[in-house]
This record gives sequence, structure tokens and C-alpha cells, in this order.
Amino acid sequence: MAATGKDFGLETHGNGQNEEIGHWDPVETVSRDELVDLQSERLRWQVERCFRSSLLYRRKLEEAGAEPGDIRFPEDLLRIPVVTKEELRADQEASPPFGSFTVAPQDDWREVHPSTGTTGQPVNTIWTGTDVLTITDFTARTLVQAGVRPGDVFQNAFAYGLWVAGMSCHYAAAKLGCLVVPTGAAVSSDKQIEFLLTAGSTALCATPSYALHIGEVLAAHGISPDQLSLRVGLFGGEPGAENPATRTAIESALGLSAHDYYGLAEVGPTFASECEAKDGLHFAEDHVLVEALDPVSQAPVAEGELGVLVFTHLTREGTPVLRYWSNDYARLSREPCACGRTHVRAVSGIVGRHDDLIIFKGAKFYPSQVEKVVRSCADLSSEFRIEIERRDEEGVAASCTVVAERAGEFDAAVEADLRRALRAELGVGVAVRLEGLGSLERTTFKAKRIVLR
Ligand SMILES: [Zn+2]
Repeated sequence: MAATGKDFGLETHGNGQNEEIGHWDPVETVSRDELVDLQSERLRWQVERCFRSSLLYRRKLEEAGAEPGDIRFPEDLLRIPVVTKEELRADQEASPPFGSFTVAPQDDWREVHPSTGTTGQPVNTIWTGTDVLTITDFTARTLVQAGVRPGDVFQNAFAYGLWVAGMSCHYAAAKLGCLVVPTGAAVSSDKQIEFLLTAGSTALCATPSYALHIGEVLAAHGISPDQLSLRVGLFGGEPGAENPATRTAIESALGLSAHDYYGLAEVGPTFASECEAKDGLHFAEDHVLVEALDPVSQAPVAEGELGVLVFTHLTREGTPVLRYWSNDYARLSREPCACGRTHVRAVSGIVGRHDDLIIFKGAKFYPSQVEKVVRSCADLSSEFRIEIERRDEEGVAASCTVVAERAGEFDAAVEADLRRALRAELGVGVAVRLEGLGSLERTTFKAKRIVLR
């Protein structure tokens, strides 16, 4: 009988946190050779079960002439074809309701979570009971990695319900031994602040844009961050926390140490966080294999080069993915980290999503670059939009206007400075429009930065 997740001892870690070094699981610091051996064993198990039980993966492997028994790691990984979200969506439409990429028997299914994409039908992922335990365990690891500890009062302002990260962070913080304050993202910022004060929350999870909004409301009420008990925060769901200007803005508004947090519905939920060295997102590489590939040739890029992140589930039972093409760009490093962890890092976080790439007058840039400029400017609020006109399939825009908010009185020099700084960062001149403070809508979930005209 093939190995199951249980055979890997997945249900047994979790109490292994080492208070002294602040690690949750001894696997975080094993040598790269030991890690590769573990990944190799788990990949073999996963490819075999996908071949046996998923029509989608069996067809893809057969078309590529890859027999599961031949796949050795790392040398044969590239023989497994990549899979895209579009393929999963088409497969799900052809074989409703959950597609032919489910692998575990239906009796084992415990939770369903759709992706939160803005286009097309969401792709459903299914967690088995073992998946729930495994996800809880490695999510607890990501929290400890960022500095959350047993006894923390953990305010979870990630959206609950269908969105994956609210549930997983809740389970993980409870397992870690925190008091969870499950505010979610549906309550007002006033309510968040009320709980920050009354519960004495010491740790916070939120999207970076929501964290900034809570900070704005705090300031508007004249409440100093010193009146809060916050010590540490994990900010994910959208890029931002790794951006130095955004990190500083969140840290000074809320009086905590801000850590970048990353996940994807189809893969995660959240399986990478910054450690206390804040030198990139550490992935839980014993559960998810991470590659960075050239967007055109699909060949691996050199270490440190920008590539598309591609993920393979090593332990997921319900709806595992083999070489899932994420469309997220990052630079990977396997160099030793100051924290002692050996698992791969996305240095400087996620640079951008392919879907968000803007091509304007021959220049290519991401909303994160506009964010960096806007949030470095003391005369502007942290909120912004990028208005794009007639964007075609390749992302080429006919016009591009950055809309930002003045933090103070009208001053013509602010607009000229912003225009100059954007030209220097983006490599192209874009139009700029400044509006009054509070004129752009705030969000409690993922901020939508690009507006199509
Ligand atoms: Zn580290």
C-alpha cells in the first residue's frame, strides 16, 4: 500500500517547538541534503498517487511520456509537465463539481476552499482531515517563524469563510497556544481597534492595505500605537509588507514588527513567512517544492534571478498540484539565513503577479513599484490607484495615470515630485492626479490597485 501523509509522521509534529531557538519543527534547520532526500521520497509518493487517482495528472504524465516510477528528484522533475490555473478551471468545468484532479477518496474530504481570482470561475481545492492537520501544523510554523509565540493574543483580521487564510491562521494560532480573536475582515476598523484595545492583542494578521487603514483610523481617533499591546504582525494576501516604505508605514502606525506573509489558495493557504531576520520569505519546503522558471522557456532560472514560482505539493492529499504555474514572480535563495533555517527564501518577497504586469510605452512595471514610490513620499497617504485605459491581452495600456491622495494642503510641488519619482522608478513618464485625503475607497480585504477605464 502506498504511503499516506500519516506515514510521514505529519500528525506528530507540532509540539516540537524549540523555545530556545524559536523554531516550531526540527525540519526547518536540517541540511539541504537531508531536505532533498525527504522531498525526493515525498515527490515519488505524490506522483504515484496522482497518476493512479487523477485523470488530469495521469493524462498529462502520459502525454509527457513520464512514468511515475522513472521520476527521480531533482534530476527528473522537469519531465513532469507544469499545470496552470486555466487547466484546472477547464478540467473542473468538464468534470463538475470538483474536476478530475482530486486524489483522495471522497470519504476523506473535510473542507472545500475556492480560489479568489477576479476572472473566471473559482477553482475549488479540497482538504482531507489529514490536510487540515498538516496545514495547521505548517501554518503554525510560519507564525512562529515571524515571532508569534504561545500566550500571544492573536487578532486574526484575515477574511474567514471561503477564503483559505482566515481558517488556517485561526487553527494554527489555536494549536500554537494563542488566545485567538477572530475579528475577520468583515467588521469595521473601529471594531478592530476596540478589540486591539480591550483584548490587548499582541499579534495581528491582515492584508497590508487593511493594516494601513486600521492605522489611519487609529490616528484619526488620536490613539497612539503606544496605547496598543501589539508586538508582531503578519501581512499577506497581497504584496506590500516586504516593500520597505510600506513596512515602515505599518510598523510606525501600529507599533509592531511587520512580517511579509505569502500563500495561494490552490497551494497554501499560507506557506511562507519572513523570519526575524526579514531577509525573504521562507517556504515550508518539506511540504511544497518551490521552483523559479523562465516565463517563456519554462527552464529553471539561475539562483537569485527573477522567475515564475512553480509549486508542487509533497504532502497534500485532497487536491494536490504537480508543478503549478503560479504567475507570481520572485528571486529564490538557498543561501544560509541568519536565523539558521535552511528552507528556500523568496528574497525581497513576491515582486509581482504576471496578471498585474503593466506595459506602457514599452516600459514594464508592477503596481508594487508604484506603491514603493507613493509610500516613500511623506506628503501623500498610503492609498493609490493606477488607472489604465484600453489594456490589451498582453497587458499593453493606451494610457496610465497614477492617482494618489495628498496628506496635507494643496502644494503643486508634491505633484511634480511624484511625477519625477515615478519616472525614475518605472522608466517611463506616467500621468499623475492628486486627490484629497480619504477620496479613494479603503478595503478590508485585498486592495484593487489597477482600475481599467
Ligand atoms: Zn531566516
